[in-house]
Amino acid sequence: MKSITGSVVKDQVIFMLGFGLLMGLIFPFFTLWLLQLPASKVLTPLYFLMCVIAGLIVGFCNYLIFRGVAHRFLSELSSRMAFFQEKLEVCRAAPASAEIFQAEDCYADTFSKDILGEISADFNNLISTVVNFMEVERTTDIFLDKLKRSLKLEDVAGVILDTFSDYFGGQGSFLLVLERGEMNLVKSQFVEIKKDHLKENLWHELFRQEKPLIVSAIEGDAIHLNIGVAQIDPRYVALIPLKYQNENVGVCGLISMEPFKRDFVSLEARNFIQQATPFIYNALIMKRLEVMAAIDELTGVLNRRFGLRRLNEEFERSKRHRMPLSVAMVDIDHFKKINDTYGHQAGDFVLKTMASIFSQNVRVSDLVIRYGGEEFLLVFNGASAIDTYQIMEKLRIMVETLRLQYGAFDLKVTFSAGVASYPSEKVSDMGALIQQADAGLYKAKEMGRNRTIIAG
Ligand code: GH3
Ligand code: MG
Ligand code: MG
Repeated sequence: MKSITGSVVKDQVIFMLGFGLLMGLIFPFFTLWLLQLPASKVLTPLYFLMCVIAGLIVGFCNYLIFRGVAHRFLSELSSRMAFFQEKLEVCRAAPASAEIFQAEDCYADTFSKDILGEISADFNNLISTVVNFMEVERTTDIFLDKLKRSLKLEDVAGVILDTFSDYFGGQGSFLLVLERGEMNLVKSQFVEIKKDHLKENLWHELFRQEKPLIVSAIEGDAIHLNIGVAQIDPRYVALIPLKYQNENVGVCGLISMEPFKRDFVSLEARNFIQQATPFIYNALIMKRLEVMAAIDELTGVLNRRFGLRRLNEEFERSKRHRMPLSVAMVDIDHFKKINDTYGHQAGDFVLKTMASIFSQNVRVSDLVIRYGGEEFLLVFNGASAIDTYQIMEKLRIMVETLRLQYGAFDLKVTFSAGVASYPSEKVSDMGALIQQADAGLYKAKEMGRNRTIIAG
């Protein structure tokens, strides 16, 4: 309905006074008919005037009551709105890390059970929605800012687990990523994931469903986690599949003792989860590139550049902790002959076989480096020269007795090795350590090959 004066309050005054005037004009006839008063007394200008004045007074009083009740309520609501706007502006101007105000602080009273109460309730809902929206926006900004800081998968996983735990609620979390078709654990918090359970079909089913799987415990019970051991008794578990441009990237798991704070399938939650996936994807690519830059393409062991960098780190660590460190320089005997007799591809096959024998028979903390064409440098942490001699002899005999089948040919392969150790008089730095090992190798070749010699 259109306003007459452009002001609801003024319209109200007009309506009230108009109503009073009408009542004043009707009232004399009313009294004539109902009270049977004589017409000569009622239908007089003075009586009409008195009734109109009385009507106008009642109309004006009505208006005053309206002002006192409804208008006071609306002014109160208006001041709550102004208060909310002020809070919003302060919040917008504050840095991203500042706390957002509580929506409840700006709520209007909802005691009235009529349309006015409904207006207050709607206003309060609006405030909640806006504050919630701001919280999500701010959390997302902080989240993205943290994610941008590092390309390392472990760092990215840490940020994702912390933020998801805060956002959805949860006391334990883990992040699995899909690498070459296998699920691998990157990081977990307050839950230990069992390695052999990573192979389960559950993950593929989860990727197929394309939505989070939420499991809640029956009243009072804790959920038995098949995939691992939690340090708390979880009653709620969420497994969130992570996809980037239709490619499966991994799974984020959350475990909680209380119900989760948010619905995982709401648009807002899905957007939030979506923000994380490109960062995991990039970190995975980065990891793959790092591996590619460090690995020798033919043999799959560390290449010389990266291997020597790692050896340097290990050497410095040994120096700091006064721990022994040994290296063995290995050279395949008469390798040229293998190439010349059976072809270059046979030579490549021998190199790959050697690398895999070395890698499979040393500890994870040891390094296998392709140092040159058919030369390998093996690094043994914490091993003395004697320990290393024994390891190398075991490997040498293993290779010597190996029946290496290449097509129709049985290849016979042997190698010579020179061992050098730190600490030793002649070894002051990494270069000297390698030089010593080389000298040992030279001696081994000189003495007839297929043997290990400790330098010095
Ligand atoms: P020795 O017992 O004295 O070590 O004799 P050798 O024949 O092994 O020594 P030499 O250093 O003369 O030969 C090394 C050969 O390794 C020469 C080179 O063609 C070959 N070679 C180097 N890199 C590769 C490779 O990636 N693949 C193959 N097939 N051969 C390689
Ligand atoms: Mg050589
Ligand atoms: Mg050789």
